[in-house]
Amino acid sequence: MDLICDLIRDVEDFPEPGIVFKDITPLLSDPDAFETAIEAMAAPWLNAEPGNEITKVAGIESRGFVFGVPIAQRISVGFVPIRKEGKLPFDSIAQSYLREYGPDTIEIHTDAVGVGDRVLIVDDVLATAGTALAAATLIGAAGATVAGFSVLIELGSLAPRSLLADFTVESVVVFGGD
Ligand code: AMP
Repeated sequence: MDLICDLIRDVEDFPEPGIVFKDITPLLSDPDAFETAIEAMAAPWLNAEPGNEITKVAGIESRGFVFGVPIAQRISVGFVPIRKEGKLPFDSIAQSYLREYGPDTIEIHTDAVGVGDRVLIVDDVLATAGTALAAATLIGAAGATVAGFSVLIELGSLAPRSLLADFTVESVVVFGGD
């Protein structure tokens, strides 16, 4: 995955001092690398056992949309946006949480997923996993099951998997940690 790693840029002290921001814009501007990234993020979720198929992909605003939509197309299921507070137009469920650099609230439409859905949650970076866990709570509150998480980058030094011990987590590249 050197092709992908080489196109993830570290930006120090963004959005605030002490944070090393993983900038994926160089990757997005390279069509071959982006294609490789989407393939790698979708691969573990293709050809599921009968009964365990993914029925929806939920992407977390905003970079989760960039990866989530093409992954949903690969798996041939619908895409559901999980958005920041106040952005969704229809009836929504909200969940507040803490992430690497501050508190936040995300929302999902009440009719986006439901009983019988097995939802794959997609984002670019898994840091503390606060966002991911909040997204899983929303999916559960809407009556659906979380099939797992697919992220491009896992920040191993923040041990995000400890918060997601109950879930299957697939990442393409891991920075830091053991
Ligand atoms: P967390 O809830 O701490 O796992 O943070 C994950 C969310 O915040 C994702 O939506 C990421 O896009 C963003 N994020 C957190 N930390 C970083 C980072 N170091 N570089 C880029 N994005 C980050």
